Amino acid sequence: MKVELHLHTNRYSACAVATPGEFMRRLVEIGYEAVYITEHDAVWSEWEIAQLQAGHPLIRIFPGLERTLSAESMQHLLILGTTDPAYLQMEDPAEVLEKARAEGHLTILAHPFRWEGAAGMLDSGLRPDALECYSSNHTAAEAARAAAAAERLDLALVNTGDSHGLHSLNRFWIETDQPLQKADDIRRIVMNKAYVNWVGEAE
Ligand SMILES: [Zn+2]
Ligand SMILES: [Zn+2]
Repeated sequence: MKVELHLHTNRYSACAVATPGEFMRRLVEIGYEAVYITEHDAVWSEWEIAQLQAGHPLIRIFPGLERTLSAESMQHLLILGTTDPAYLQMEDPAEVLEKARAEGHLTILAHPFRWEGAAGMLDSGLRPDALECYSSNHTAAEAARAAAAAERLDLALVNTGDSHGLHSLNRFWIETDQPLQKADDIRRIVMNKAYVNWVGEAE
């Protein structure tokens, strides 16, 4: 099963250039079977997810968000599986990680070496579930640093599209043969390392 873990649509992410419908049609065309919608500091409601899902039955559509945490340095944390707007009011990485873990949501530190301080929580001893490795916003050199950090800290490492437009699909994703029925199933899959990171051809 081909899974996109990190995707922005133009509904709530100003930097994204494709509509939710455009993304879903293209994802299905190129064989994705599940996607997490992770807007910048915005959550989709259950109702919105259900409405998009009804129009695109060939792909499983799950919620999430990419939270900008700027307590010390600016860091981007993906929280997969939630529609809870309470995350939008939280600034402290420790509190966000604790809430996500208590609720069973997978956390991924996005592009940890994209800028200075993007992995600040690691230096202060905090541990997300996973680090992003390759994405359309993480170079090969940055991905290598992420891989080294994941190895050193024994964290999972995932490839994502960090997709903002259709061109960033089909480049980086994960494949799993595990069942992904509910949004939070992804946490068990990633924590058990029951997936493989993939790199495709740029479109
Ligand atoms: Zn980001
Ligand atoms: Zn992003």
